[in-house]
Formats: sequence, structure tokens, C-alpha cells
Amino acid sequence: MRARVYKSTGSWYTVKTEEGNFCVARIKGIFKLDGITSTNPLAVGDWVKMEHEAGGEEGGWIITGIDSRNNYINRLSPANKYQHHIIASNLDQSILIATLKDPKTSQGFVDRFLVAGESYHIPSVIVFNKSDIYREKEMNLFHERKQMYASIGYKVVLMSLEQQTGMEEIENILRNKTTLLSGHSGVGKSSFINSVVPGKELKTQDVSGWSGKGIHTTTFAEMYDIPLLNARIVDTPGIREFGLVDIPKQELSHYFPEMRSRLQDCQFNNCLHINEPGCAIKKALNEGKLSLDRYVSYCMMLDSIEEKTY
Ligand code: GDP
Ligand code: ZN
Repeated sequence: MRARVYKSTGSWYTVKTEEGNFCVARIKGIFKLDGITSTNPLAVGDWVKMEHEAGGEEGGWIITGIDSRNNYINRLSPANKYQHHIIASNLDQSILIATLKDPKTSQGFVDRFLVAGESYHIPSVIVFNKSDIYREKEMNLFHERKQMYASIGYKVVLMSLEQQTGMEEIENILRNKTTLLSGHSGVGKSSFINSVVPGKELKTQDVSGWSGKGIHTTTFAEMYDIPLLNARIVDTPGIREFGLVDIPKQELSHYFPEMRSRLQDCQFNNCLHINEPGCAIKKALNEGKLSLDRYVSYCMMLDSIEEKTY
């Protein structure tokens, strides 16, 4: 029997069989996967094989195998920094819910998300929520960002969950796909899930009670069905950001599409595009062909990698 993991709570997994039934299953013994050192052998989104437990009184399900993953997202294990914790797998795309007001998502945060998506080979979509409270200043900023991100290949959508605008475009993006949902606290992630997933009533936060810090509790990823769209959404409550942990300095620019296409023109093949002579990135920047904000994000990410190395 094949099934897909919808929720993991340590040793028990909620899975959905190919016939469409939800049941609970567990794994037995040691599971070794692809040589990856992971603290959790199975992740939300995994396709597994299961069997009825021999002699089990209630006929419980035992997971006996796992299909290889198309992709997965991970982060460093909170308990052991040399181990990775796989959060979700087999994702078709990821959506970042961002806002330009109450709270404002920084461009650095958006760009780190996009770099993570590039490194996991998962296409990213940026959705700006709360358009109902944007005034001229925020609308101008939205159009500026949309144009800039579209020019380097990212889809950008304007949405208001409050007024239910932009929803058709979002539904078309979600249709027939498994989508990871991301965004920092207060942007409307829970409201989004409540709006698109039938029968879901996640608690939303009162803006007045929003501390701006986010809550650091250990929570688990969970997948939700949207039957009408034949779609699935993966929520990762409590996880602010996915790791850029494995990206060496030299490789960072490969995850900026607008830099990637120019790298072969740098004089040195190990160019970090800071102050090396004959740098094609700096040249394009000076000619106004690259976004200065994106370059600033690049420099900040490069710095954060350096700190971790020493
Ligand atoms: P989460 O922390 O990302 O899960 O965000 P919530 O869904 O809890 O939303 C945070 C606050 O923003 C709540 O008070 C929501 O009612 C509010 N909110 C969500 N979407 C919108 C929107 O489109 N417009 C406005 N004005 N407020 C929104
Ligand atoms: Zn360069």
C-alpha cells in the first residue's frame, strides 16, 4: 500500500493512502535513507510503502519503505548542529507571504527565501498580502518590487485576504501542486490557510498582541488538502527560515539568477563580486543592469556565511 505523509509527530505519522483514506502509521526499526544524516527519517510530503502489522490487535500500519525524494527542505537540528532536520519533501513550489505594511517584510528576508528556494531547486512565488491597507507609498513599492522580481524570473502577486482579492490568481498557482507556505509571523499565513483550505480553523493572531518576535516553539510541519484545486499546502508553523547552511561563499552568486547568467564574464572564476578586478557583476551594477537592493542582500548574505566559517 502506498501512502503520503501529511503529518509527523515524532514516531507517529498521519498518512493518506492512494485510495484517499487517512490513517496513522509508524515505523519499525532503523531507517537509513540516501546516506543523509537526518534526525527524522520521514518528512511531510514523503511517499511511503506500508503494511499491516503482523499480529497487531487493531491491525496498525507499519511503514516499510520510502520512495526517493524529488527534493526536500531542511534546517539544522535544534539539538545537534551537525545534523539536519528534514522538514518537507516532494514540493512543486513555495509561496512566501510577505507584506509591505503591518508588519513590513524586509527585502533581505525575501531574498534569503529566494536563495533558499534556488538552493533546494524549488520555484518560489512571492505574494504580498494586506493590499487593502496599502496607500500610494506601499503600492508604488509593490509595483517596483514586482517589476524587479519579474525581470529575474519570479512571480509576484498582490493579495488581500481581508477583501478576498487576488484569490483567483493564487488558486491558479496552487492548482494541481504541492506548495510550501512560508512567511514571518503576522503576515497572514494562518488567515491564508483558513481561506483556501476547507474546514480549517487555524487560530489567527490579533495584531494588537503581535510581539514582532515570533514564537519559538517546536512544532511540526503539516500538509493540508484543497480538494477543489487538487492541491496541497504544507504549513511549517514556528519555522521562521530555512537554512542557507550549506552554501559556501563561492557558490552564493549561483543562487541569484541575475548574477548566475553573468558569472562566466568575471575575470576570476572564484570572484566574490566585492572588489575583484574585472568583475562582470560590479560592471553590470554600475551600468544599472542589476538591482542595487538585490546586490546589498547578496553582500549581507555573504557576510553571514563568513561569520559562520570562522
Ligand atoms: P500569521 O502569523 O502569518 O499566521 O498571521 P495571521 O493569519 O494570524 O494574521 C495576522 C493578522 O493580520 C490578523 O489580525 C489578521 O486578521 C490580519 N490579516 C490577515 N490578512 C489580512 C489582510 O489581507 N488585510 C488586513 N488588513 N489584515 C489581514
Ligand atoms: Zn565578479
